[in-house]
Amino acid sequence: MSSMIAFGPVPSRRLGHSLGINNIPPKICTYSCVYCQLGRTKKMQVERRMFYNPQKILRDVQDKVKETRDPIDYLTFVPDGEPTLDINLAYEIDLLKSLGIKIAVITNGSLIWREDVREALMKADWVSLKIDSVQEEFWRKINMPYGTLQLSSIQQGMFEFARAYKGELVTETMLVRTVNDSEDGLGKIADLLARLKPDRAYLSIPTRPPAEEWAQPPPEKIINQAYHILHERIDQVEYLIGYEGNDFAFTGNVEEGLQSITAVHPMREEAVSDLLARAGGNWSVIHRLIDRGQLIETKYKGRKFYMRRLSARYTG
Ligand code: SF4
Repeated sequence: MSSMIAFGPVPSRRLGHSLGINNIPPKICTYSCVYCQLGRTKKMQVERRMFYNPQKILRDVQDKVKETRDPIDYLTFVPDGEPTLDINLAYEIDLLKSLGIKIAVITNGSLIWREDVREALMKADWVSLKIDSVQEEFWRKINMPYGTLQLSSIQQGMFEFARAYKGELVTETMLVRTVNDSEDGLGKIADLLARLKPDRAYLSIPTRPPAEEWAQPPPEKIINQAYHILHERIDQVEYLIGYEGNDFAFTGNVEEGLQSITAVHPMREEAVSDLLARAGGNWSVIHRLIDRGQLIETKYKGRKFYMRRLSARYTG
């Protein structure tokens, strides 16, 4: 019998085969992000408490692991709410480690100012922290945090955690049009990331109907700019943009190459030329994709870049 607590495994570009763990009932969170795919937060809270019996979580995950044929790369806490609200998170990670599979936690980081939360996250092999804005005004606007939360202590907690953490640390920044997509705002995020030194910083955009209708992705030109602003300060920046393989409907080597590269970052004109040369294609392929509206040509600091068409897919 499969349960509601363990789900998947789902293929994930970052985590391979990831078995999801839903350790929070829908939807209890410290934030009510305007882009949340789960709709508005039903119950906002910052007190940690017990939701499910840790032994039950272990049993459910164990059952799911047994019934899954493919190898599982990660057991991932990615609930319908904020995973660190679960007061037993550290204990659950300890229990799950007996299965010999790596553990990932996708958290908004809002409780990381607490030592017990940092200690729990320390136990995971891979942690993702949300950093949508380092400016109070925009943090409030995008994440709609619980009233007592303080951005400065959250950032302090992130630094403390990052300094001590031995696992793989990544960040996620969701770009919301006209809120956190300005050059200035992105520059400030880049400054923070340069100090935090995550192994990778991911950029994403709202691609499914968001909790608040006004939360829209920025245009491609801005998404490209965001990539470069971050990349100037930290080496590993990647797009994390919900992408179903057939959106692009590519065929052949050139298209496949473009598809896999532009899923991760924009491509410089020279890189496209190289790819065309290697794959025996020519620029007519690129022009065709641009005509079909699948590829976009954009500029940053006078150089041409190519990227997938991303924006505003669900609006219409
Ligand atoms: S932190 Fe995650 S679950 Fe909570 S509101 Fe934001 S997107 Fe939704």
